[in-house]
Amino acid sequence: MATTDQTSNSQGVDPDQDPTPAMDEQSSTAPGLPLNSHVSAQSIDRKGLDAHEYDIDPDQSASEVQDVITCDVCIIGGGASGTYAAIRLCDMGKSVVVVEKQGRLGGPTETYFDPATKETAEIGVVVWHDLPVVRDYFARFDIPLAKASFATPGVSTIHADLRSGRIVDDYRSASPNAALATYGAQLARYPYLEAGFDIPYPVSPDLLLPFGEFVEKHGIDAVMHTVFGYAQGIGDLLRVPTIYVMKLFGLDVLRNLRVGFLATERHYNGEIYEKARLKLAGDVLLNSEVVKVDRETEEHATVLVKSPSGPKLVKASTLLITIPPKPKNLHGFDLDDTERSLFSHFTNATYYSALIRDSGIPDTVRIRNTGADTAYNLPILPGAYYFAPTGIPGLHHVKYGSPVEMSDEQVKADMLRRLSG
Ligand SMILES: Cc1cc2nc3c(=O)[nH]c(=O)nc-3n(C[C@H](O)[C@H](O)[C@H](O)COP(=O)(O)OP(=O)(O)OC[C@H]3O[C@@H](n4cnc5c(N)ncnc54)[C@H](O)[C@@H]3O)c2cc1C
Repeated sequence: MATTDQTSNSQGVDPDQDPTPAMDEQSSTAPGLPLNSHVSAQSIDRKGLDAHEYDIDPDQSASEVQDVITCDVCIIGGGASGTYAAIRLCDMGKSVVVVEKQGRLGGPTETYFDPATKETAEIGVVVWHDLPVVRDYFARFDIPLAKASFATPGVSTIHADLRSGRIVDDYRSASPNAALATYGAQLARYPYLEAGFDIPYPVSPDLLLPFGEFVEKHGIDAVMHTVFGYAQGIGDLLRVPTIYVMKLFGLDVLRNLRVGFLATERHYNGEIYEKARLKLAGDVLLNSEVVKVDRETEEHATVLVKSPSGPKLVKASTLLITIPPKPKNLHGFDLDDTERSLFSHFTNATYYSALIRDSGIPDTVRIRNTGADTAYNLPILPGAYYFAPTGIPGLHHVKYGSPVEMSDEQVKADMLRRLSG
């Protein structure tokens, strides 16, 4: 069944809206396209380091490395927090070095430029919270912001169970507003969740309940579709402990649902990272890998880095680690037993983003993966959340989630299999 999209406004929340703002109000009326799809999936938890043409010995003594950089703060990871920290520290007169494994800053923020139409599509991050710190950050780089619009006139949504291809005719969603108010009252009991993981002990038993049980306990079934839409990437929503859902769908998300999120007026989210990169210039080491970290010396930590322009030894008064603290990410770090034990407890679900061209889905159609026979009609993951038109003819955006890590190839293959099924 095709349903015409509703628009969310400050009076209420449409539980079926995808948290992806419309690219202007353009929606092509192109007819169905051939089914020889090209999919370019981007695993956001990408592993690939560009191979460098030299080996580096992790035990190489500091004196052997020619290129020594001394700075106040060495930031490992140049995504959202690493880049922002680097800019702020520079503003405060501190010297920094950012070590980033990818060839650009920004982590999951990436804008696709369509060569044919010169239009853009956001591959990863699409909206920003409307907060003074966000507005100031963008203003500093002269990047205009506007309220994100979720209106997609002329686009209709098909609810389909992508396991079978079956259209879910009887899908209905209730207004979530009253239940969201109750959820907000619960969130307000734990204001510290907005700031980090500094949590009072003993942890409230409610926070440890699987989210499905928390929803039942508080009689807030009607929040489920909205939370599922905005907490994409969390994995198995019904089973994940409530604390993680509240971290992802917290008080400030609720506030932004009321006041409206922000998007870049030029539809170019990557611009902030390109400008930050220019500002930081030689203080950023891209395509670079930490080979060894030594925090033992009293005056400074040393970080041996393998970069495309040769090995560097960074001597820093402070280290700021903004990468996921998992053992596979921390090779070469001088972890103590407590750190090693703590970090080996972290697991993560994964969230993938892709653009798919010539999929056969008309440009006026969005497909939402909907469980035909599941609790709350939630789709079974691993699987796509949705295939949504980008506004660029023939190009759909796909968001895909998995409770376990998958390779890019597995995700691409599954996306194509579901479409052709
Ligand atoms: C697909 C997707 C869409 C999203 N959409 C939104 C949205 O619309 N709005 C919103 O507010 N939030 C969104 N988010 C969440 C947002 O992106 C994160 O909250 C934010 O990026 C977290 O910032 P961070 O600095 O902690 O991590 P990241 O931004 O992920 O930065 C970590 C950086 O570390 C680098 N790195 C990893 N390992 C190493 C290593 N060993 N050495 C060197 N560098 C390393 C990574 O390449 C990355 O650049 C989205 C996330 C994803 C995945």
